[in-house]
Amino acid sequence: MYEGEIKNLISMPELCNRYGVEVDRNGFILCPFHADDSPSCKIYPGNRGFHCFSCGANGDVTDFTEQYFSLSHTDAIRKLNADFALNLPLDGYDKEAAEKQIAARRREQERQKAEEKRLRDRYWDLYDTLLGIEMVLNAFRPVGMDIPPPPVFTAALLKKEQIEKELEFAEIDLRRQKGRL
Ligand SMILES: [Zn+2]
Repeated sequence: MYEGEIKNLISMPELCNRYGVEVDRNGFILCPFHADDSPSCKIYPGNRGFHCFSCGANGDVTDFTEQYFSLSHTDAIRKLNADFALNLPLDGYDKEAAEKQIAARRREQERQKAEEKRLRDRYWDLYDTLLGIEMVLNAFRPVGMDIPPPPVFTAALLKKEQIEKELEFAEIDLRRQKGRL
C-alpha cells in the first residue's frame, strides 16, 4: 500500500508542521507517546523517522501517524494520503498512477526548496546590509555630546531601524518556509 512511497514523500519535520507538533531548535519534540516534560523525541530530517530517547518509541511517518491519532495502519496511510494531497490510488496498487503523483509531489518539493533558498538569500542580504550600516555608525559616531552627528550618521541610524524590521520579517518567513520542508 505505497508504504515506501509515502515514507519517501513526507518528511518527519513536514509531518510535525502539518499536525502542529512543535519541533525545537535541536530537532526534538515533547514525546506524544509517554508523559514527557522535556523534549526527548528526536525528529530526523527526510525519511529517517523519529526516535524517543526516553520511552524508545520510534518509526517512520506512517508509524507516527498511526500512534499519534490511534489509527490502524491502513487508516494512517489513508489519512496521510489525504492530508498531504498525495492522491495515491489506494484501492489496489497502480504503479503508473503512483509514479505520476510522486513526480508531481517531487516537483512541488523542489519548488518549496527553491523558495527556501530565496528566503535564505534575502535574510543574509539584509544581514550583510545591517553589518554595513553598523560600520558606518561606528565610523561616524559623534565624539562629544555638543557636536551634532553628521547627516551620514543620522541617515544610517534611520536605515538601521528599517533593515532591522525587514530582517525580523525575513527570519519569520524563512522559519515558516523551513517548516514546510
Ligand atoms: Zn517517548
